[in-house]
Amino acid sequence: MTGKVYLVGSGPGGLGLMTFRAREVIDSADVILYDQLPGEEVLASLPDVEKIDVGKYGGKHTKEQDEIEKLMVKFAQEEKTVVRLKGGDPFLFGRGGEEMETLRKYGIRVEMVPGVTSAIAVPECVGIPVTHRKFASQVTFLTGHEDPKKEESAINWKWLADSPGTIVILMGVKNLPDITKTLIENGMDEKKPVAIIERGLRPDQRVTIGNLDTISLIAGEKGVKPPAIIVIGEVVTLFDEE
Ligand code: SAH
Repeated sequence: MTGKVYLVGSGPGGLGLMTFRAREVIDSADVILYDQLPGEEVLASLPDVEKIDVGKYGGKHTKEQDEIEKLMVKFAQEEKTVVRLKGGDPFLFGRGGEEMETLRKYGIRVEMVPGVTSAIAVPECVGIPVTHRKFASQVTFLTGHEDPKKEESAINWKWLADSPGTIVILMGVKNLPDITKTLIENGMDEKKPVAIIERGLRPDQRVTIGNLDTISLIAGEKGVKPPAIIVIGEVVTLFDEE
């Protein structure tokens, strides 16, 4: 008999948007593996059990992901109840899928606890609906982590530039200049409205508005930093700070 691993989404920030199920499993855990994305309020609320910060800092990804998975397996084999806590939802750019595969491979019981994803909730909290009957009948979620200049991009930039609807980019701050340039080069309207929401649903949330051709300059001037959600599309015109 092994323990069980819960892949838990903590929501986009704060305790209010964490689910009851997330709270329940967090409070029943023997060990919690976390990173910084859930935010201070959530991290401060964790119970007094073994806690390990497995955050990936300084861009050292692959090896550390291996180590995180090994740790989950090890604790589960010690018959512990393990919570792997992630910001937003574990299955949207959260590596939850990969962790689930590894746990399955080792025959470890795993339960997913979905979370409110920042990709929808962060724009929503500033009045930007990712779909809207008048403006957008489709929405594409994209990782901006990938350099669009790379020959073998896994993203079809031409298709994106031609597609109607909303584009929501996560992890896109660093590559924003290349992303906007690539979309314009592929024929997207350079006046398309863009919003960047930094640290959404946190006390120091900040919104930056521009157009496809101006946003990276404005973001540079304002010193926009991750974590931030970038929204491209007509829905941005509904933005309201109130
Ligand atoms: N699984 C997470 C996303 C993980 S990828 C989710 O569903 O929300 C990490 C990226 O999420 C960040 O780089 C940023 O783009 C976005 N993000 C997460 N929380 C955020 C927040 N509170 N405000 C702005 N962006 C956030």
